Amino acid sequence: MLDIKWIRQNQAEVQTIADQKGIPISIHQLVEYDDRRRALLHELEQLRQDRNRLSQEISVFMRSHEREKVDHHKKRVKEINQRLHTIEEEHKEVEGHYKQLMLYVPNVVSPDTPVGGSDHDNVEIKRVGEPTTFAFEPKDHVALGKLHQMIDLPRGVKTAGSRNYYLTDMGALLHRAVQQLAIDVLVQRGFKLLEVPLMVRTEALLNTAHFPLSQEQTFKMAEEDKWLVGTSEVPLVSYYDHEMIDVAEPIRLAAVSTCFRNEVGSAGKDVHGLYRLHQFAKVEQVILCEANLDISEQLFQEITANAEEILSLLELPYRIMAVCTGDMSQKTYKQWDIETWMPSRHGYGETHSASNLLDFQARRSNIRYRDADGKTQFCYTLNNTAIASPRILIPLLENHQQEDGSIRIPLALQRYMQGRERLEP
Ligand code: AMP
Repeated sequence: MLDIKWIRQNQAEVQTIADQKGIPISIHQLVEYDDRRRALLHELEQLRQDRNRLSQEISVFMRSHEREKVDHHKKRVKEINQRLHTIEEEHKEVEGHYKQLMLYVPNVVSPDTPVGGSDHDNVEIKRVGEPTTFAFEPKDHVALGKLHQMIDLPRGVKTAGSRNYYLTDMGALLHRAVQQLAIDVLVQRGFKLLEVPLMVRTEALLNTAHFPLSQEQTFKMAEEDKWLVGTSEVPLVSYYDHEMIDVAEPIRLAAVSTCFRNEVGSAGKDVHGLYRLHQFAKVEQVILCEANLDISEQLFQEITANAEEILSLLELPYRIMAVCTGDMSQKTYKQWDIETWMPSRHGYGETHSASNLLDFQARRSNIRYRDADGKTQFCYTLNNTAIASPRILIPLLENHQQEDGSIRIPLALQRYMQGRERLEP
């Protein structure tokens, strides 16, 4: 959420960002609602003051037995009450519209964010390693999964419908191994590991700005005000909802969670294999820090470097993309995606997404700290994927496959794979 005072002073800029991010909102209309609610609030206060004054005067007139004045004032109070009722109703309605529109206002974007309409306009800023070349016809992860009996898509569909899967034996072990590797990297780097709720209230999703705009991507628990999380970023940030915290040192949090996604709007897209699923596991990094652009940029680089470290331990080629305005979410100030080389896609596929949100989530979540001058401030929040599996198994299996169908296990992963150096079909 942005400050309404700031929005009023920068209406054109906020409207431009909303248009660039493809968010359907009229900032002019928002300001009109704000004007109206302020005017109504002012009138409400005036009327309440008048009523109080008249009530006090009635007491005085009653004591002095001035009957006519008492009747006259009582009539006035009745009229004021009627007017108050009308204004209160209108204020409630206008306030509702105002609050609803405020939920759609986008965050500002960093000066180094590319302007563009879709992911085609994202800009590559770094490339590490080269796309793998093979001296044989490589298999895709689905074929490798079948050969090794470790990915079972038909049974996933049988049990749970499309975009579902079973991982068996080495598949399930690999899935756990990459998560544990990522957790160990983060814990070594000072992140505090949390086990988090996976069913959260609507408020947590509104406060972290996943609602209302991405609501259709989220599965609701029938007949309860609870939703299955699409990312542990939600319970990690919400951990501090409505709290005053200490961010003299940035707070580094990590969680591993199952993530549930409806994937509305992706019908027919990425239907092959393990790329786009309704359920996956993600190790997530979240940082809360003081409201300082330089510090938050350093931390943005830090969470990106953590993801890069994990990819280098997995010995995978990747590139970093600066995400453009049109491909960014409402809440994001700056976003870099990491895309890992996926031979079967003949290209890079997104495996990580780092975001700096400034105080956008903290304002909505009311997470504050006291700065060096004792002033209350909203903190900044950042997040990035550490690992998301099974999507990461696509590059892992495909890039490390050998001509005989075996799969080489990168050195850093071997200890999580009970010492195996390769998987034999
Ligand atoms: P996000 O939280 O949307 O930024 O996604 C973070 C990472 O989670 C992505 O880069 C993917 O690696 C993974 N991911 C997101 N959505 C899906 C999905 N529907 N199926 C499998 N993996 C996903």
